Amino acid sequence: MTDTLVPAQSLLSPADDAGSPKRLFIKTYGCQMNVYDSERMADVLRPLGYATTDTAEGADFVILNTCHIREKAAEKVYSELGKLREMKEDRAASGRGMTIAVAGCVAQAEGEEIMRRQPAVDLVVGPQAYHQLPELLTRTARARGERIGADFAPNDKFDALPTQRGGTSVAAFLTVQEGCDKFCTFCVVPYTRGAEWSRPVAAVLAEARELAARGVREVTLLGQNVNAYDGEGADGKPSSLARLVYALADIPGLDRIRYTTSHPNDMSDDLIAAHGELPQLMPYLHLPVQTGSDRLLRLMNRKHGRQKYFDLIDRIREARPDIALSGDFIVGFPGETDRDFEDTMDLVRRVRYASAFSFLYSPRPGTPAATMGAQVPDAVARPRLHALQALLLEQQAAFNAAQGGKTFEVLFEKKGRERRQAIGRSPYLQSVHMEDADHLIGQIVPVFIASGEQNSLTGQLPGHHHQSGSRPQAESRRAASDRTP
Ligand code: SF4
Repeated sequence: MTDTLVPAQSLLSPADDAGSPKRLFIKTYGCQMNVYDSERMADVLRPLGYATTDTAEGADFVILNTCHIREKAAEKVYSELGKLREMKEDRAASGRGMTIAVAGCVAQAEGEEIMRRQPAVDLVVGPQAYHQLPELLTRTARARGERIGADFAPNDKFDALPTQRGGTSVAAFLTVQEGCDKFCTFCVVPYTRGAEWSRPVAAVLAEARELAARGVREVTLLGQNVNAYDGEGADGKPSSLARLVYALADIPGLDRIRYTTSHPNDMSDDLIAAHGELPQLMPYLHLPVQTGSDRLLRLMNRKHGRQKYFDLIDRIREARPDIALSGDFIVGFPGETDRDFEDTMDLVRRVRYASAFSFLYSPRPGTPAATMGAQVPDAVARPRLHALQALLLEQQAAFNAAQGGKTFEVLFEKKGRERRQAIGRSPYLQSVHMEDADHLIGQIVPVFIASGEQNSLTGQLPGHHHQSGSRPQAESRRAASDRTP
C-alpha cells in the first residue's frame, strides 16, 4: 500500500476555483477505501466554500486521512503533523489561519493522544464520521469567533424563519432568536444562519410595546431554536424564553403570546410551567420530533430519544392538559426501514397531534445526510408519507371536532370570503370562521364553536346559536401536507 495524495484535479470542478477562496488539502494514507473517504470529505466541505488543492502550503484546512495497517503509521502522522504545525505558525504570523484535522483509523485509535501530543491539531475524526466534518469545522470556527461562509442554496424549509402565517394588523411576528447549534444531519441552518444568537430582552420588549401601541393583540416570537433563547436581561445575565414571555405578558394590550420553533432538548422546566400559569401564553406548541425511530433520531443527530419526547409531552400536558401539539416529520430519511417508519406511526398515535407538517426527505447537498447512502427510493417513501399524512389528517379532524360545543376566546384578524364573515384564531391556532362578524375584527371575544371541520372551526356568538343550515365550510384538503399549518 502506498500513501496516496488525493489528486487535486479529480476533486476540483471549475466552479470550485471560481467562487471559493478557501483551500482544502487532504493527504490520504492507505487503502482505496481511504481514497474514497477523502473524496467524500471534499464533497461535504465544498458547500462550506472549500476547494481542494494539491499542497499543504497555502491551505486553509489540512486533513490527514490516516491508515493504521502499516507499522509506524502513527509515527509518520506525528512527523507530518510537526511540519504542519510550523506551517500553521507561519500562517498565523501573517494573520491567516490553518485548521488541521486528523481523520481515519489512526484518529480513531489514538484520538485523545493525538490532541495531547500535537496541540496544533484542531479536529480528530474517526472513520465513517467524515459526514460530521462540516459540523466539527463550524464548531471549531465558532469557538475561534470566526464565521463559516457557506454557499448552500437558501431555499430549504428549515432555512427560513417560519412565515406560514402572514402577520396581520392585530397579530404580528417578533424575531427574538436566530441561528442553530444543533446540526441535525439533514439541515443547512447551522451553516447558513450561524450560531444561536438571541436579541436582548430590552430590545424585544421595546418592539413589543411598539406593536401593542399599534393595536397588535398577539405576538408570535420567532426563532430557529426559539426555546434556546438566552438574550441578555436587565440584570446583564441571560434570560430564558420563559422569563421573556412573563415580561411580555405585562405589556398592556398584548393579550396573546406564542412562540415557534422549539427543539425538545431546550424545553425547559420554567417554560413548561409557564404554560400552566400564564393565561397569555396560548395553549399551542410546535415541537418537532422528525421521526419516531430511535435509530433515525441518532442518525439525524437530534440528540434525544423517543422516550424523552414522550416524557416531555407528558410533562407539558400535565401543566396544560388542553394544549394543542404540532410537529414536523421527515419521511424517507436515508436508511429508513419499515420498522423505523412504524415507530413514527406509533409515536404519532401516542402523542395525538392537533396539526403537523410532514415532508418527504430530500437531500441537501453538503449536509451529512446527503452522503449517508441508502437513500430510500421514492416508490417506498411516498406511500409511507401518504399513510402518515392520512393519520395526521385524522387526528387534526378529531382535534377540531372535539372543540364543537365549547366556548372560548377568538381573536378576529381579518375578513373572510363571504359577506360580513370574519376569520379569527382560536387559542389552539385553528382558524375560526364566523358570519356577520366583520365588526369584531381586532377584538378578542368569546365564541361558541358550533362545529369543527378538517381545517377550521365554525363559530357563533354565545347566546346566538342557530342551526346554521348554511352551506358547509369550504374545505381545502391541504392539512398535514407540505407547508400546511
Ligand atoms: S434544530 Fe436541527 S432542524 Fe432545526 S434548525 Fe437546527 S439543525 Fe435545523
